[in-house]
Amino acid sequence: MRINLSKRKIKDIFVTKIEEISGQNLLACYQCGKCSAGCPAIYEMDILPNQIIRFAQLGLKDELLQSKSIWICASCLTCNARCPKGINIAEVIEAIRQILLRKREDHLKINKLSDAEKENVPPIAIISSMRKFTS
Ligand code: SF4
Ligand code: SF4
Repeated sequence: MRINLSKRKIKDIFVTKIEEISGQNLLACYQCGKCSAGCPAIYEMDILPNQIIRFAQLGLKDELLQSKSIWICASCLTCNARCPKGINIAEVIEAIRQILLRKREDHLKINKLSDAEKENVPPIAIISSMRKFTS
C-alpha cells in the first residue's frame, strides 16, 4: 500500500474528529501490538488494529474509510482490555464507522440481502449491523 504523509494530514480535522467521537488520545499509542495479537477477527482484516491506530494518528483518512477492518471488527473489546496504555481501540474503530455512517454509507445493506442470504446470516450479524447503523 502506497502512503502519502504530510504535516497537514496529521493535523487534519479527520484526526480531531476521531478523537472527539471516540474520546481517545491517539498519540498515547506506542505500537506495542498487543491489541492486534489478541484480536479474534484479525484473519479477516486488511489493516490490523494497531495499524488502524497508527493510520489514525497519521490522518490516513482514505485508507481507513476504505478499510474492510472497520466493518470486520466485532466490538468484542478484547483489544481495549489488552492495551497497556488504556486506549479503547474499539471506540476508535467505532468512531471511524460513525464518520461513514453519518454520511449514510454502510458496508452491509440488509434490505439488499435476498431471503436465502438472510437465512444464512447469523442473527447476531444482523443485530450488530443494525446497531452499528443506529448507534
Ligand atoms: S495495545 Fe494499545 S499501545 Fe499497543 S498498539 Fe494497541 S493501541 Fe497501541
Ligand atoms: S474490538 Fe474489534 S479490533 Fe478489538 S479485539 Fe475485538 S474484533 Fe478485534
